[in-house]
Amino acid sequence: MEKLILIKYGELTTKKDNRKFFVKMLENNIQNKLANINITIEKTLSRMYIKYDKKNEQEIIEKLTKVFGIHSIVICDNVNTNIDDIKNKVIEILKEKQFKTFKVSTKRSDKNFPITSMEFNNIIGGLILKNYNCKVDVHNPELLLNIEIRKEGTFIYSDEIKGLGGYPVKVQGKGMLMLSGGIDSPVAGYLALKRGIDIECMYFESPPHTSLAAKNKVIKLAQTLNEYTQNIKIHIIPFTKIQEEIYKKIPGNYNITIMRRMMYRIAEKLSKKRNCKVIINGESIGQVASQTLSSMIVINNVTNMPVIRPVACLDKLEIIEISKKIKTYETSILPYEDCCTIFVPKHPIINPNLETAINYEKLINYEELINECIKNIETIKIEKQEEELL
Ligand code: ATP
Ligand code: MG
Repeated sequence: MEKLILIKYGELTTKKDNRKFFVKMLENNIQNKLANINITIEKTLSRMYIKYDKKNEQEIIEKLTKVFGIHSIVICDNVNTNIDDIKNKVIEILKEKQFKTFKVSTKRSDKNFPITSMEFNNIIGGLILKNYNCKVDVHNPELLLNIEIRKEGTFIYSDEIKGLGGYPVKVQGKGMLMLSGGIDSPVAGYLALKRGIDIECMYFESPPHTSLAAKNKVIKLAQTLNEYTQNIKIHIIPFTKIQEEIYKKIPGNYNITIMRRMMYRIAEKLSKKRNCKVIINGESIGQVASQTLSSMIVINNVTNMPVIRPVACLDKLEIIEISKKIKTYETSILPYEDCCTIFVPKHPIINPNLETAINYEKLINYEELINECIKNIETIKIEKQEEELL
């Protein structure tokens, strides 16, 4: 246990009243992610320290870069707050570094330490100049050596690894993500997690019109999202009967509008049952006929629950960029059919009328069908991350 990682918090430090709760949640989330590795965590309200074995370093860093609520991850050396110990450590650390220019930045929060930060910069700077062939560059140094002198010890580090930022997952409670096999909804889920919303997922399937491969693709997406949280549940909604009824009885141009109103109704019911405070989906304004503002008004009209649309105002290219970054893209573009695509009419209406939609809906006995749907949900827990499904 000789190595130490310092975790700097991001935005959560600005949330004064909630800080304790946020930090506790972050600690839990980190503990859970690193559960199979031998570590110890110490936390303060301004930062966290993780002690670990050098051999686990890479795995730990990989996992921490997928935890929300972290501003940066800093691998540091920890010595007693004592001038000679600090000097020796600096020399030892710099042996492994390549640099021509450098800067020392000391922060002294332990005011019992007898030397000011400025003076100490000069002392350590002098030591480095004497031992290495290099120059000081205060504006753009190749090596920035940070020395933090604190009561609990002195921390020396040079590289900071950027964290994901955001808030620790779960600080906001749960939301229900409508997860299709497309590009947009996994990105929406990721962005919701980033704001601290824990997610459960729901997927509408219409066998035999949609295949097992399409369902497994969605499970795979949930597994990828699970790397940013844990134990995601995915609810598989048997949607065939409702879709067939719509297709049979409702004029083609309103099929999608009515289908999406049914999806929202089911999403609301399931959210309430599962204690989810909001519905989350991957709608993006104007992307397809059902996502014009006029369509959204008619579709959204069936629920009073807040519907969070994290990608509403992003361009498709911006969404794709995020999906590549979070590694859902490769799965999303696999060519399996979705329940939305199989019944797509030639000319879906882009300006639906609410009254008309309500009147058409009277042609199907949807309440009973919805209850039946909810009764027959299959719930899958995502535990393993690497399972091969496709
Ligand atoms: P995506 O790329 O996420 O599939 P999309 O551009 O294909 O989005 P739509 O098919 O109109 O858009 O769906 C809009 C949103 O509705 C999706 O982002 C998703 O949140 C939800 N949705 C669509 N189909 C399903 C489904 N079969 N199961 C669960 N949610 C769905
Ligand atoms: Mg889709």
